Amino acid sequence: MEGQRTPIESGCPDGFQYMHPLMRKNYGNWAYHEDPRPGVLKHTARSGEAIYTVRAGTQRILDVFTLRKLCDIGDKFAEGFVRFTIRSNIEYMVADGSKVEPLIEALEKEGFVVGGTKNSVAMISHTQGWLHCDIPGTDASGVVKSMMDELIGEFKNWNMPNRVHITTSCCQINCGGQGDIAINVQHTKPPKINHDLVANICERPSVVARCPVAAIRPALVNGKPSLEVDEKKCICCGACYPPCTPMQINDPEHTKLAIWVGGNHSNARSKPSFQKLVAAGIPNNPPRWPEATAIVKQILQTYKDNARDWERLNDWIERIGWPRFFELTELPFTKYHVDNWRGARHSLNASTHIRF
Ligand code: SF4
Ligand code: SF4
Repeated sequence: MEGQRTPIESGCPDGFQYMHPLMRKNYGNWAYHEDPRPGVLKHTARSGEAIYTVRAGTQRILDVFTLRKLCDIGDKFAEGFVRFTIRSNIEYMVADGSKVEPLIEALEKEGFVVGGTKNSVAMISHTQGWLHCDIPGTDASGVVKSMMDELIGEFKNWNMPNRVHITTSCCQINCGGQGDIAINVQHTKPPKINHDLVANICERPSVVARCPVAAIRPALVNGKPSLEVDEKKCICCGACYPPCTPMQINDPEHTKLAIWVGGNHSNARSKPSFQKLVAAGIPNNPPRWPEATAIVKQILQTYKDNARDWERLNDWIERIGWPRFFELTELPFTKYHVDNWRGARHSLNASTHIRF
């Protein structure tokens, strides 16, 4: 070991050093919280001290100029402490309640939107897409931007029966979201293989190992080592594309979007639930994705009109049943909602069709 460089473990830095001093002081001793207005939280500690949090949406992938602008607002109108939420919101913490309104004004003047708390549509959480990843089938940030432009009123106000978490994901297999509404990529055709490139680029055994349904086999094509896909088995997941780019699965026509609803991690009122497919084969249509946005808005409107107060989307569907959900939202129930994959016996309980 002598002479070897010690690895630098650089994970998440300790968050305490960045916390507002009042939060550090009362850590673990909070008594209750209130929601004075949309986008603002007030936490009161057992000591009687209170701290306000003002939340504004950002585009997640921030350029340095926007970041500086946000920090300048924090220095001038808040108390110099910020944090980012998992849904790409920036939060400013202030101990002085009189700073809240001027801070909101300053944020709105610069075009930032304050909201996303309580029974609103929270900022859509999304994955990184083209920016750093090797498997995306769509640009998740673009979908988020287009949808939030249309849902801005729902972010800024408390109009929903309960909070709504929307997620997007840019591939079918990894960090894709589990949300009240999830917009996920859906590949509909097996990958097309560029046999001339496979031998030079791909490590064939690792590509074969990657397939979850064992649909890939080594093959000799035109005398060169390559791969072949058993298309009857392939579930079009896209997992073979990252280790072997000549197995191209992204396609402007056949890579679609799908919408899933009713996912909930929380077990506050009812058990956690899996999301279920409600709309498939939606065109992946940049730059504004109008078809997918229209369906999300339709689901939200129906939920808003029909759910009881404080019912989460999954609780509401559970109460009215899936047939009624399709009737109310006027989404077509098609053969694509039926899981006819031969491994389905393992997933029957997680799909919509068993409920009929
Ligand atoms: S969802 Fe998939 S493509 Fe998007 S960042 Fe995560 S792993 Fe990459
Ligand atoms: S797309 Fe998925 S199922 Fe199809 S061959 Fe590739 S890894 Fe296998």
